[in-house]
Amino acid sequence: MRRYRCIMCDHKFEVEDKVKPYKCPKCMERFVELLEGPPVKGKQWGSKSFSVK
Ligand SMILES: [Zn+2]
Repeated sequence: MRRYRCIMCDHKFEVEDKVKPYKCPKCMERFVELLEGPPVKGKQWGSKSFSVK
């Protein structure tokens, strides 16, 4: 489970790992931040995926 908080209405909610909550279930805004849980795989949280050799 991951816990998210909506930046717009401060609503906190939890979703399963495989679900990507792009929207707040309360106000349907897309501004949500991750509070707890493993970070989402991919390039959503910054572009630090460059390789160093
Ligand atoms: Zn909200």
